Amino acid sequence: MEKVSVELDVEEEFSRFFKQEKYRSLIANAAAQRKKSIMVDHSDLISFNEKLSHLIVEEPLKYLPALDRAAYKQLQVEDPEYASTVKEFKARIFNLPEKVPIREIRSSHLRKLIAIDGIIVRASAIKPMLKTAVFKCRSCGTRYHVEQDSSKLKVPEKCTSIQCRGRRSRFELVEEESEYIDYQLIGVQEKPEDLPPGQLPRVIDVGLRGDIVDRARPGDRVIITGILFAIQERAAEIPKKTSKMYLEAVSIETAS
Ligand SMILES: [Zn+2]
Repeated sequence: MEKVSVELDVEEEFSRFFKQEKYRSLIANAAAQRKKSIMVDHSDLISFNEKLSHLIVEEPLKYLPALDRAAYKQLQVEDPEYASTVKEFKARIFNLPEKVPIREIRSSHLRKLIAIDGIIVRASAIKPMLKTAVFKCRSCGTRYHVEQDSSKLKVPEKCTSIQCRGRRSRFELVEEESEYIDYQLIGVQEKPEDLPPGQLPRVIDVGLRGDIVDRARPGDRVIITGILFAIQERAAEIPKKTSKMYLEAVSIETAS
């Protein structure tokens, strides 16, 4: 019970953060321009509540959704009409106190919020990625909405309708009712001036989602704040024990 109330306090505190004049006007401007996110300066979080600013860096998977919800709540205050038309609103954190050199990223950074800087060396096409998939039971036609929050496609396991009564069933994706988000994969390479003599530059894969796709092009210098994940490497469908580092971007700033 106590844990739950601590979580609620965090969200309450984030709500107070967005009631500051600077963020009220950032949110109001974003609404006026029909934007889906605002940039949140991490140094503002430090001066507002130092403990919270650390929690966000240490456990972003837990606290970033609370920050987004608080930003959305303030959007509902600033522009209720626009808020009712957007399903989510992102608080994109930037300006962490330190940047991690790409070659010094380690497993101790996994699932933490980190910032890197480098040069974009490749960028994929922008692809629609399933966010909420709608599946239809092939026997009875009942529809299921399934949030897609991992790299594997999540499909309902059984149909719980009166007709199918929890039997295993075959499902088909209803594309026109499913919700998609833009997705782009880029490669970010160490800057030449950061390179130790005689070393080859290292590259990390970075995923961009939503309104931050297509913000920068190959050759651009960028600072990316994101959450580090490990993606299992596969050799002929057999998962290997080693993983590849992957950064899921929270924000991207162009430096050139
Ligand atoms: Zn069914």
